[in-house]
Amino acid sequence: MTSSVDTTDNAAADFSRLPLNPAILANLALLGYTRMTPIQAASLPVALLGKDLIAQAKTGSGKTAAFALALLANLNARRFAVQAMVLCPTRELADQVTTEIRRLARAEENIKVVTLCGGVALRGQTASLEHGAHIVVGTPGRIMDHLARGHLNLEALNTLVLDEADRMLDMGFFDDIATVARQCPPERQTLLFSATYPEGIAKLSQQFMKAPQTISVQAQHEKSKIRQRWYEVKESERLHAVSLVLNHYRPVSTLAFCNTKVQCRDLVAVLRAQGFSALALYGELEQRERDQVLVQFANRSCSVLVATDVAARGLDITQLEMVINVDVTPDPEVHIHRIGRTGRADEEGWAISLASMNEMGSVGKIEQLQKAESDWHKLTELTPASKEPLTPPMRTLQIVGGRKEKIRAGDVLGALTGEAGFTREQVGKINVNEFSTYVAVDSRIANEALHKLSTGRVKGKSVKVRLLDEEA
Ligand code: ADP
Ligand code: MG
Repeated sequence: MTSSVDTTDNAAADFSRLPLNPAILANLALLGYTRMTPIQAASLPVALLGKDLIAQAKTGSGKTAAFALALLANLNARRFAVQAMVLCPTRELADQVTTEIRRLARAEENIKVVTLCGGVALRGQTASLEHGAHIVVGTPGRIMDHLARGHLNLEALNTLVLDEADRMLDMGFFDDIATVARQCPPERQTLLFSATYPEGIAKLSQQFMKAPQTISVQAQHEKSKIRQRWYEVKESERLHAVSLVLNHYRPVSTLAFCNTKVQCRDLVAVLRAQGFSALALYGELEQRERDQVLVQFANRSCSVLVATDVAARGLDITQLEMVINVDVTPDPEVHIHRIGRTGRADEEGWAISLASMNEMGSVGKIEQLQKAESDWHKLTELTPASKEPLTPPMRTLQIVGGRKEKIRAGDVLGALTGEAGFTREQVGKINVNEFSTYVAVDSRIANEALHKLSTGRVKGKSVKVRLLDEEA
């Protein structure tokens, strides 16, 4: 059964009409979650009744909180056993989910969330499990590993979540998911969340879910916020056309989608040769490289992130002025997802698409799905808006040392605004990872900040620092 909910009704989207405890509701208000997103309004009432659920909505629509609030409602904090498990496709998505669950759970007494992903030693994770975890979040492979070694006991599990299920299927995790699901108690609630609805999802739900209700929030956007334009290009002009677009519109942050990894690499090379700050995101990057690319893009020290669809799926990137479809995607649903990355919240966004003659069939399918004709423009309309090259407002400093050294964002901010004498406004996002800390600073003070941090102290210790963009 598929249902849709009218979320234009303000009262219907109020969290307080849900059976949530008052502490959780108060915390939601503190987080600025004043109203439910459409997928939350559609799925939470069903999930909070304990029913199995398949929920589909585009990236960035708030799916994490939808399942996190449901699993927290099933949780007894005084019972020291794993009661909920979330399977995610990658470590960075697992980290995002863990962070969101912790934020939503902070109103409750000490709820322990443990992340279980590959790429780090088993021992630390085993120790965290031994100290008692209420919720585990991780990738199927690593969770299987802990199950096989007897480190993870699922007897008390009451909620199983499959997050970004489409991407897990893309990555070939069907059998791993099956192995893990079979070890969960049959008397449990299973929640499946996905941005798209490929065939494998039905197979998963038949095997591991009980009479699930399917909820889908249509992948249409409020047209006013995303302004779409199309440019016809010859194959030979395509990559250069991207720089014409950037120089004309001058967006601070742009996500450029290519259909292949080779195209991603070529585009980055072309953009860099012209002085743009561009980074590529595609499968096969090492986790550390991926982390650094995403940090630099999210903190506004890289102008253009060039990505394949699979690599960009699920990433929570805010503040994006522009999406460029360097290649037209053959799947019109994918086009809707791509352009939905811009025009979030109350911001307006540009979606610029480059199409050659032999892509016109795909353009037609997109027009059909959007029920709108394309707005075509000519490359000759694109003129540089400034003689200055387009450069990012920030630069990233990498400090050797992170959570393992107990560095906190406040320590770094303190070091920069204290003795070093910078203002708060000159410091941007601070990301503390396990072994590294990344801090964005106003590009005009980057070298000075590098010098002052290198010669000064963070948390009473001298630290190694470098500018992240200088290695390539
Ligand atoms: P998805 O999993 O659907 O891609 P996320 O769960 O990552 O989306 O949510 C995207 C962003 O929206 C996150 O930064 C999250 O904190 C925020 N968010 C989620 N729900 C709400 C809400 N009800 N009000 C405001 N912000 C929200
Ligand atoms: Mg998600």
